[in-house]
Amino acid sequence: MSWCPICYQEWQATGSVIYEPLFWSLAVVKVCSLHHCLLAEVCPYCHKNDLFLRWHSRLGYCSQCQMWLGSLPDNSHNNLKNIAEQELEVLLWISKSVGELIAATPSMASAITKQDLAKAFKAHINVVSSGNKAEFARQLQLPKNTVWLWCNGRNLPQLDTLVQICHRLNRSLIEFIT
Ligand SMILES: [Zn+2]
Ligand SMILES: [Zn+2]
Repeated sequence: MSWCPICYQEWQATGSVIYEPLFWSLAVVKVCSLHHCLLAEVCPYCHKNDLFLRWHSRLGYCSQCQMWLGSLPDNSHNNLKNIAEQELEVLLWISKSVGELIAATPSMASAITKQDLAKAFKAHINVVSSGNKAEFARQLQLPKNTVWLWCNGRNLPQLDTLVQICHRLNRSLIEFIT
């Protein structure tokens, strides 16, 4: 589990209901796009990093030591100053794109299927390389066989792979799928 300590802090300060944004749990999301900070993965108190959400754990609190995981005024959080600007741009783009997809998914009526993605891949391959799968794979530095399996709906790309592809195509996840 990862979290943004500043989000927790703000939610507590404003009395909002604290929820666990689904997208923090996705390994592909590394930064908070609101606060431009790295998501925390290790409890600052007990230094455990396998804080899986348990049914009895309180959101915003460490499931191991029960300490509050929001940032404290004197707590320097992980800032992004040490990350190269280009890398930061990619990380923020990924967070935003995944966040948008999750926000939109309930309205997409049904979960995205292999067939939906196969259709999306075919459509993008038509645009990028006039339907040439090998050329598409070469341009995006992907294994040819893998692209073939995706196009046939035999296999689903991992979310992080899909996000990287979308970033290279300059399409958000939603734009890619719909
Ligand atoms: Zn945040
Ligand atoms: Zn802890």
